[in-house]
Amino acid sequence: MIEEFYDFPQELLDLDAKALELCKEQFAHLEEIRDYNQLKMLRAFTDNKVSATHLVGSTGYGYDDMGREKLDQVFAQVVGAEDALCRSHFLSGTHALTVALFGLLRAGDTLLAATGAPYDTLESVIGKGESGRGFGTLQEYGIHYKEVPLTKDWQPDYEAIAAQAPGATVCHIQRSRGYTVRNAFDLDTIEKVIKTVKAANPDIVVMVDNCYGEFTQKREPIQVGADLMVGSLIKNAGGGIAPTGGYIAGRKDLVEKCAHRLTCPGIGRELGCTLDVLRQLYLGIYYAPGVTCEALKTAVYAQCILELMGKNPTPKYWEDHNDIVTCFEAGSAQALTGFCVGIQSGSPVDSYVSPEPYAMPGYDSEVVMAAGAFTLGSSIELSCDGPIRPPYACYLQGGLNFTASRAGVLLALKKAYFSQD
Ligand SMILES: *Cc1c(COP(=O)(O)O)cnc(C)c1O
Repeated sequence: MIEEFYDFPQELLDLDAKALELCKEQFAHLEEIRDYNQLKMLRAFTDNKVSATHLVGSTGYGYDDMGREKLDQVFAQVVGAEDALCRSHFLSGTHALTVALFGLLRAGDTLLAATGAPYDTLESVIGKGESGRGFGTLQEYGIHYKEVPLTKDWQPDYEAIAAQAPGATVCHIQRSRGYTVRNAFDLDTIEKVIKTVKAANPDIVVMVDNCYGEFTQKREPIQVGADLMVGSLIKNAGGGIAPTGGYIAGRKDLVEKCAHRLTCPGIGRELGCTLDVLRQLYLGIYYAPGVTCEALKTAVYAQCILELMGKNPTPKYWEDHNDIVTCFEAGSAQALTGFCVGIQSGSPVDSYVSPEPYAMPGYDSEVVMAAGAFTLGSSIELSCDGPIRPPYACYLQGGLNFTASRAGVLLALKKAYFSQD
């Protein structure tokens, strides 16, 4: 059927057919996870008695905004947490993580990063090296920082974690890969890290960066012992519908501390008007299990074709998935740019523009990215990017629906590997 709409070389169509056959079992597994999470979501809506009045927002100070409070409760139930802040007032994942770190840590405390260097944008929040200097980093507020690197094969270094945990106040764990070639950590691994730090320091607060991990499994990090988990609503958890926002979920006393940092000490969660965005946040989280499944199917399908083509992607299509990201080495600047050009051409918005490499602040080489999305910068929508330097690593993520994203992946492969120009 796809040939009726797009012109692909026969060799690529054969790969497509083979991949669809090989992915059947994994697709069925992903659909089972989706169904479980969707029913969990429905129960959270009905148990909490969400009504039409909750979908209407507030203005001004936002006192007594019932819809805002109800959304927090629904989200908390879905992720197995005591409490949550699920709000448009978080600008991004980085902002939600920053609110959590400043909410939990005080002068003299120590932050321990247990799974290697945290996501790049947190460098200036922590104040690693020169980054963020003068802007009020954690270190400038007298908070100490320790980092346990991953082992050579990208696993947590349990011995070093146990040795560093005593004396630390907060332990940071990152589930997804960020810009490394490691795979995302599964929940058993996260549980083992948590047990290791808590055995060495029972009072430590464990916070998981859950960006890209939501609804990829039946459980969430809180259910394996994390005290707090944090993420973005323009990734998995917003279902491609939330236009902005993020969340912090976990232990009630800790969520409360974060609320007073999100707004002001003494005001906490009582203020914050929701304007006209609540309906989209409710609809977005309601759709999130299904949309995350579509993105995972896109990832698995792309991984399968890339594997058949000998491109050695991470993760493998048959593996268990804990984030929606696919990483592979494009092999050349031309192939990487071509892949991004192809993804863009198969995007529902801005399909006619052609991405070009450009210099981005904070990167030491040029970067190329494709992002033809309904929500600017949304990476639950089909998108990809990579730095223009060997080995030309390409990060592919998202896809609101598998049928359209499959076409996008085929257009990308055609442009990168099956065309003369
Ligand atoms: C995307 C991401 C972040 C930051 O989220 P933004 O919304 O881009 O600020 C943090 N951690 C991980 C693992 C991520 O994937």
